[in-house]
Amino acid sequence: MSSDGINFVVEGEIPEEGTAQSKLVEHTGGCHCGAVRFKVRAPENLVAHDCNCSICVKKQIKGFIVPESDFTLLQGADNITTYTYNTRQAQHTFCKTCGVESFYTPRSNPNGLSINYYCLDPGTYKSVTLVKFDGVNWEQAVNDPIAKKYFTDNA
Ligand SMILES: [Zn+2]
Repeated sequence: MSSDGINFVVEGEIPEEGTAQSKLVEHTGGCHCGAVRFKVRAPENLVAHDCNCSICVKKQIKGFIVPESDFTLLQGADNITTYTYNTRQAQHTFCKTCGVESFYTPRSNPNGLSINYYCLDPGTYKSVTLVKFDGVNWEQAVNDPIAKKYFTDNA
C-alpha cells in the first residue's frame, strides 16, 4: 500500500510462499469454443489481480501471472489474434472464433503471462485471492511493493 493513498488493497488471505498453500500444480484451460487450449503450472491457491483499467473492467479479466516457461499453449496458436492500445505494450491475445481472452501478455511482465482464472477448467485450484490493482494509475500502481511481489518477482 502506498503512503499517498491506497492503490493496492488486499482482499482475502495471500498464501505464504514456500508453504503447502503455495504448492504448484498443473491447471488446464482455454477459450469458450475450445479452439484455444493451454496448460499452466501455478499455485493451487491462486492470487489474481482485480484491475480497474479500461480493458480489464470491460472484459472482466481477473488474471494471475506466471513466467512464460510455466505456460504451454496446447492448441489454437493459429486461432489467436492480438489487440493492443495506448502504450501497445500489453498484448491482448484472444480467440478469433469466440472472442475469449483466456490469457494475455501484461505490460508489467512482458516475459510472463496473465491467465484469466475464469478460463481454467474446474477442479485443480482450491482458492482464488483477489488483489486490487489500480490499473487506471498504472505507473504508480506498478511500483507498489505488493504489486511488485505479484508482478515482477513471480514472473
Ligand atoms: Zn474460442
